Amino acid sequence: MKLLKNIGLAIFLLGLVIFTALPFLGSFKMSEQIMLEQLSEQELGNLQSDFEEKIIDVEFGTSSAFGNAVIDIYNTKNEELKANEEWDKVMYTQEKEFAFKLAKASTTGFVADNKLLLFFLSFGLGILGALIYVYQDLKLLGPAGIKNDGVYHSAAQNRGWIGIVTFLWLVSFYVLLYFNPHIIVNLTNVVDPVKHLFNPEAGASQWFLYGFLYTVTMIVMGIRMLIKYRHNKYQVVRTITVVLFQLIFAFLMVEILPLFDLPAKDLKNAWPLDHYFLFDWNVQQLLSSGHFGKFLFFWGIILSIIVVPVMVYFFGKRWYCSWVCGCGGLAETLGDPYRQLSNKKLWTWKLERWLINGVLVFAVIMTIYTGYHTYNVYNNPDMDGKDILFGLSAYDVRSWYGFLIGSIFAGVIGTGFYPILGNRSWCRFGCPLAAYMGIVQRFKSRFRITTNGGQCISCGNCSTYCEQGIDVRAYAQKGQNIVRSSCVGCGVCAAVCPRGVLKLENGPEEGRFGNEGPIVLGNDGFKIDV
Ligand code: SF4
Ligand code: SF4
Repeated sequence: MKLLKNIGLAIFLLGLVIFTALPFLGSFKMSEQIMLEQLSEQELGNLQSDFEEKIIDVEFGTSSAFGNAVIDIYNTKNEELKANEEWDKVMYTQEKEFAFKLAKASTTGFVADNKLLLFFLSFGLGILGALIYVYQDLKLLGPAGIKNDGVYHSAAQNRGWIGIVTFLWLVSFYVLLYFNPHIIVNLTNVVDPVKHLFNPEAGASQWFLYGFLYTVTMIVMGIRMLIKYRHNKYQVVRTITVVLFQLIFAFLMVEILPLFDLPAKDLKNAWPLDHYFLFDWNVQQLLSSGHFGKFLFFWGIILSIIVVPVMVYFFGKRWYCSWVCGCGGLAETLGDPYRQLSNKKLWTWKLERWLINGVLVFAVIMTIYTGYHTYNVYNNPDMDGKDILFGLSAYDVRSWYGFLIGSIFAGVIGTGFYPILGNRSWCRFGCPLAAYMGIVQRFKSRFRITTNGGQCISCGNCSTYCEQGIDVRAYAQKGQNIVRSSCVGCGVCAAVCPRGVLKLENGPEEGRFGNEGPIVLGNDGFKIDV
């Protein structure tokens, strides 16, 4: 069994090495025809002569080299146009997106001819190896029940060298994905065969690559969760649910809707997590896409204003964070091996409250700006400075929010730092939707974790594996209900408790905060006042 597990690991690593090597392979050569097809009239007017001199029919060894040459020409031309104040000719496409598009169309040679083979050698081997690896736990770990032995001696799970390498790999991937897509063109090339299952005409973008990788990772690591927590019905149902929400709503529907000329929206993505909601292009796209588009627009409003708080009232924020959300889903599956790394110190609790509520305030301000701009686009089309409010441009506010919160916090830190900060650093410190739901959960909800203090043996398993850094044991020892705003209701504290002390419950609000004074001694014995 151990041998099979090691074979699985070797196959997975081989797939990972091939995946990582892909950006360094292949060749990129742009023909005159590709240029004419890919560039707009304005871009041709600006760039054709430079392209013909420096890019056309020149072979580049990597997409990075090709992309950098394109970016160089693009930026030089744009600066020249700005210096000459030829504003009608200035190009506003993001230069790296522009380079990505051209590199993708100019892929030639081995990678272009062997996409399916390379897909199997990277994704195929990675998935196969990971499945063999996790499946062996079914036999190797013996009877059902959580086995967390040795996590603090593991180089992967306790910030050892494997954890550091994983962290560097994840952060690099996110930096390339968000800020340098032209470097990972080949990674998108090898998922073209999957993209063609949805649309034979279209090539995979970096967002298709991300969505596919995200979903596949959640499925494989979800299987690991099902094996690890198979004795616990709550964990089994929760894991299946969150993976299905990702697969159906965040991946399949986003790919299928555009085939019917409908907007590619993830229906479960609620504002303010969906920070694009009031952007002019989003509102325009939804309202011009017939009845379904209009339904999506009103659904977005109803979801955030009514469905989210009402559901949190009845079930706590767990209904979203642990059962529906893609970020939470990845944290609960890929991030599960790292949940013990969340910091439990008091200062992190204080930092958490400042940060997450600060992001919520930032999200509200950004939404006011974008809402004001969108309103003017519709109602005051001739107005000058439609985007300016209190001297600041809505474009600037939203691009700062997108950069700092949408990309750096949610992506690079939120997932890249799993092996260092634990699996829920985005949900705990950054997610504005979690902050919004946390306020409702703290003050107006039926959800609480009840604790049977008399049974607690103070082993500390619950606190150790609480991904939100809550010192669950401190509450359990006092027999106190846990009504913390940050609790995402993952239920792992209850699952790892050897004494059945903790119970996730939805009950009447009366008495929810009620047992803060007396300490319960024994199962149903007596109480003493302190
Ligand atoms: S207190 Fe328990 S249910 Fe809440 S986040 Fe922590 S481990 Fe999950
Ligand atoms: S895991 Fe259970 S027994 Fe151990 S400290 Fe927590 S509540 Fe007490």
